[in-house]
Amino acid sequence: MILKFLLIVIIITVIYIMFFKPKPATQKRRKNNKKRETENPEINDMTECATCGVYVEIQEAILSNGKYYCSRECLKEAK
Ligand SMILES: [Zn+2]
Repeated sequence: MILKFLLIVIIITVIYIMFFKPKPATQKRRKNNKKRETENPEINDMTECATCGVYVEIQEAILSNGKYYCSRECLKEAK
Protein backbone atom coordinates (compact mmCIF):
# COMPACT_ATOMS: atom_id res chain seq x y z
CA MET A 1 0.00 0.00 0.00
CA ILE A 2 2.81 2.41 0.89
CA LEU A 3 4.58 1.67 -2.39
CA LYS A 4 1.40 2.35 -4.35
CA PHE A 5 0.95 5.61 -2.47
CA LEU A 6 4.55 6.61 -3.19
CA LEU A 7 4.08 5.72 -6.86
CA ILE A 8 0.97 7.89 -7.07
CA VAL A 9 2.80 10.75 -5.35
CA ILE A 10 5.72 10.42 -7.77
CA ILE A 11 3.37 10.39 -10.77
CA ILE A 12 1.53 13.45 -9.47
CA THR A 13 4.79 15.32 -8.87
CA VAL A 14 6.08 14.37 -12.34
CA ILE A 15 2.81 15.58 -13.93
CA TYR A 16 2.96 18.71 -11.79
CA ILE A 17 6.54 19.45 -12.91
CA MET A 18 5.67 18.75 -16.56
CA PHE A 19 2.65 21.07 -16.57
CA PHE A 20 3.72 23.86 -14.23
CA LYS A 21 7.47 24.19 -14.70
CA PRO A 22 7.53 25.16 -18.40
CA LYS A 23 5.16 28.08 -17.78
CA PRO A 24 7.52 30.12 -15.58
CA ALA A 25 10.31 29.31 -18.04
CA THR A 26 8.40 30.84 -20.94
CA GLN A 27 7.46 33.81 -18.78
CA LYS A 28 11.12 34.36 -18.02
CA ARG A 29 11.92 34.21 -21.72
CA ARG A 30 9.17 36.73 -22.42
CA LYS A 31 10.48 38.96 -19.66
CA ASN A 32 13.96 38.75 -21.17
CA ASN A 33 12.56 39.71 -24.55
CA LYS A 34 10.75 42.64 -23.00
CA LYS A 35 13.95 43.68 -21.28
CA ARG A 36 15.79 43.53 -24.58
CA GLU A 37 13.02 45.57 -26.20
CA THR A 38 13.13 48.15 -23.43
CA GLU A 39 16.92 48.23 -23.30
CA ASN A 40 17.13 49.55 -26.83
CA PRO A 41 15.05 52.69 -26.21
CA GLU A 42 17.05 53.23 -23.02
CA ILE A 43 20.11 53.70 -25.21
CA ASN A 44 18.66 56.94 -26.46
CA ASP A 45 20.09 58.53 -29.55
CA MET A 46 21.26 62.03 -28.93
CA THR A 47 20.69 64.76 -31.45
CA GLU A 48 22.04 68.28 -31.62
CA CYS A 49 19.68 71.22 -31.28
CA ALA A 50 19.64 73.15 -34.55
CA THR A 51 19.59 76.52 -32.72
CA CYS A 52 21.77 76.34 -29.62
CA GLY A 53 23.72 73.13 -30.28
CA VAL A 54 22.72 71.42 -27.05
CA TYR A 55 22.50 67.65 -27.29
CA VAL A 56 19.01 66.36 -26.57
CA GLU A 57 17.47 62.90 -26.55
CA ILE A 58 15.53 62.40 -29.78
CA GLN A 59 12.48 61.31 -27.78
CA GLU A 60 12.50 64.63 -25.90
CA ALA A 61 13.57 66.77 -28.83
CA ILE A 62 11.08 68.74 -30.92
CA LEU A 63 11.20 67.79 -34.58
CA SER A 64 10.37 70.55 -37.02
CA ASN A 65 11.20 70.72 -40.74
CA GLY A 66 13.60 67.80 -40.38
CA LYS A 67 15.59 69.52 -37.62
CA TYR A 68 15.63 68.79 -33.91
CA TYR A 69 15.27 71.46 -31.27
CA CYS A 70 15.86 71.15 -27.54
CA SER A 71 12.98 73.42 -26.55
CA ARG A 72 10.11 75.45 -27.95
CA GLU A 73 12.20 78.61 -27.46
CA CYS A 74 14.84 77.29 -29.85
CA LEU A 75 12.08 76.31 -32.28
CA LYS A 76 10.72 79.87 -32.17
CA GLU A 77 14.23 81.30 -32.72
CA ALA A 78 14.70 79.06 -35.73
CA LYS A 79 11.49 80.32 -37.26
ZN1 LIG B 1 18.28 74.55 -28.29
